[in-house]
Amino acid sequence: MTAKIIDGKSYAEGLRGRIAGHVARLKADHGITPGLAVVIVGHDPASQVYVRNKAKQTVEVGMHSEKFELPADVSEADVLDLVRRLNNDDKIHGILVQLPVPEHIDANRIIATISPDKDVDCFTPASVGKLTIGLPGPVSCTPLGCLMLLRDTLGSMAGMNAVIVGRSNLVGKPMAQLLLRENCTVTMAHSRTRNLADVVRQADIVVAAVGRAEMIKGDWIKPGATVIDVGINRIDAPERGEGKTRLVGDVAYEEAAAVAGAITPVPGGVGPMTIACLLANTVTTASLINGLVPPKDLTP
Ligand code: NAP
Repeated sequence: MTAKIIDGKSYAEGLRGRIAGHVARLKADHGITPGLAVVIVGHDPASQVYVRNKAKQTVEVGMHSEKFELPADVSEADVLDLVRRLNNDDKIHGILVQLPVPEHIDANRIIATISPDKDVDCFTPASVGKLTIGLPGPVSCTPLGCLMLLRDTLGSMAGMNAVIVGRSNLVGKPMAQLLLRENCTVTMAHSRTRNLADVVRQADIVVAAVGRAEMIKGDWIKPGATVIDVGINRIDAPERGEGKTRLVGDVAYEEAAAVAGAITPVPGGVGPMTIACLLANTVTTASLINGLVPPKDLTP
């Protein structure tokens, strides 16, 4: 079998188009322009690139965008003050503090200060609680993106065995909640799981979120399974020239694509969905803050 390639890049493009439509309707019908504030502390080059992309895509879908670049030696109290100010700013419906922050700042304290109503990354305990019991609110961006790709590929997932490899708060745990809501039978695997290959072989749906290059091999995949590869790992690529590198996922792509029914590539799979889902969450929070029902196609 040769797997269908799940094209996250083109799905994300379509999603951004739908988001732009919802933003235009919110403006025209209710006078609301969803606003996203991104806070970055210090000069980590990778974070700078992410934040620039986020701001650019926010404006492209017609939203209000604000970016706050704070010096690496800013005090924790000043970051907390900024977050509190944004909590009370009516133009802002989503607040994202780009992680990691420098060591002298307690990331948990910053996250706990973000209003749960504006927590578009779904990091606060209140947002995680809402996700767990199925109340409306923002959903962790990367798992929401995976869910959208899975729904588009599979339709109903009821009764399927889903194995998630990785149990981080960012990806694995919220992914498990979303797949449980889809009526999957969910197994969460991690570094202490015994016989991981056998566990993965039971899966109709595999979500890999480990951070280990090409760890999941082709012969771990059940024929016809759907494979979502969240991993982003940079490896040496001497075949491309001296000192060159390339990105690979947590799944050995070529081997797995020969067995799976459908698979996300890296890059071009889950990655492009994450920022699009951040924008989707901002439309959701802007709707909820204003007492409106959020668009159904942007939520689980
Ligand atoms: P993380 O916080 O480091 O968590 C990794 C998880 O993998 C942990 O639960 C760990 O288990 C498990 N693990 C590690 N080694 C393992 C092994 N040998 N066998 C089984 N499980 C193992 O990582 P993360 O933040 O979830 O990110 C995972 C990957 O996704 C990374 O490559 C990251 O770059 C990527 N990512 C991509 C996006 C995107 O937009 N596409 C977004 C977020 C993350 P323990 O809990 O037992 O330690």
